[in-house]
Amino acid sequence: MDRLRRLLGHVKGTEPDITRLVEESDMRDVRATFYVALPFIAVAELINAVLLLTALGGLSTTARRVYFALYVSLFAASVACLLYLLLHRRDVERPRRILNAHLLYVLFLCLWGTFLTIYDQRASENVSVYVTLVMAASVIARMTPLQTVCVLGVSQALLLAFFRTFQPEPVNNLGNYMNTSFMCLTAILISCSRYASKVDEIRSLQVMTRQKEEIERINARLRYLVDTDELTGLSNRRVLDAELPALFERCREQRRPFAVLMADIDDFKAFNDTYGHQVGDRCIHEVAEVLRRAAQEFEERLLVRYGGEEFAVFVSGVSRDRIAVLADDLCRRVRALCLQTEQGTCYDAVRMSIGWSWCIPGPDARVSDIISSADRALYRAKREGKDRAVAS
Ligand code: GH3
Ligand code: MG
Ligand code: MG
Repeated sequence: MDRLRRLLGHVKGTEPDITRLVEESDMRDVRATFYVALPFIAVAELINAVLLLTALGGLSTTARRVYFALYVSLFAASVACLLYLLLHRRDVERPRRILNAHLLYVLFLCLWGTFLTIYDQRASENVSVYVTLVMAASVIARMTPLQTVCVLGVSQALLLAFFRTFQPEPVNNLGNYMNTSFMCLTAILISCSRYASKVDEIRSLQVMTRQKEEIERINARLRYLVDTDELTGLSNRRVLDAELPALFERCREQRRPFAVLMADIDDFKAFNDTYGHQVGDRCIHEVAEVLRRAAQEFEERLLVRYGGEEFAVFVSGVSRDRIAVLADDLCRRVRALCLQTEQGTCYDAVRMSIGWSWCIPGPDARVSDIISSADRALYRAKREGKDRAVAS
């Protein structure tokens, strides 16, 4: 019952974006099926026509000429449809074009089968051609429920209306009427049910795609949260542990310079005690911005918040002189910072000390040793009066 209700829903109409996706999928299906089916039908009809032409008697009678015309017309229609599909094989933007061409062919095929079966009644009460083609149309064609009802309905109506046209003498056709109507109805149900399945399949695919995008979005957000220091937006120690070994290894392999700058805000405990932790937080954020802007100038770098008011900058491929300039420049830029109070004036000037170390890593070099030597340089900077950069 539920299936029938869904089927009727599909007959009434589907949302435009789903219709478009169904058309695209149908176009691919039509191409795949018709590239196999059409040559097969064309060859079969060609053989029929040639056999008729070369058989004893040739096209001597009207019936033979009618059959010959039917075979040739189906052959021509199959070749024309095949050529059309081949000519537009790269046209994926307009699936409706392909589907309309295929619909025309399916309509022709059903009408062809209907006429052949009506004409067959001259000699026998056989309806197998009609039944076969109607069932084939429901399987190989890709039609919407409305198109299915129109194409198969018109064929069945014509069959019923003209079934007796060529019969030499009156016969009881009730059996054939019942059988063909039943088969036509079955074909319509098969075709509509396939369409409904396709719509369901595409809807599920859309839901899955949306869920995948949502998961990717959440994952990216989680990755950001795990890797980022909340206060400054800089990378945290986790990123350092994950990325520093590879950065250092590249420098060692390529004999490229490697530099570490350890930076620490001076007298920050006193700053906090004087202005409060919220102003202290703003201060850490501003200092981080200074470091971020400066680090952007270097192609291969890693900048992390190392601890409370400590930061570490790792730079590769830069000369010792340039690192010396960078270290002094960073101290100068922090000195020039002005953290606005509510009254619009600046809090006491912020100061920062830097200890740095530069080397071209040899085969035995260890990154931990270089960090330690930058750390020692930082302590020296503190001992020598702070607000300065000292090299190891
Ligand atoms: P030095 O010049 O020798 O570096 O002295 P210092 O006071 O800066 O160093 P110390 O290590 O004694 O104090 C660091 C202070 O930084 C202590 C701590 O309260 C503060 N701090 C650490 N993390 C944060 C933070 O996230 N926000 C704020 N507001 N303060 C922090
Ligand atoms: Mg400090
Ligand atoms: Mg400190």
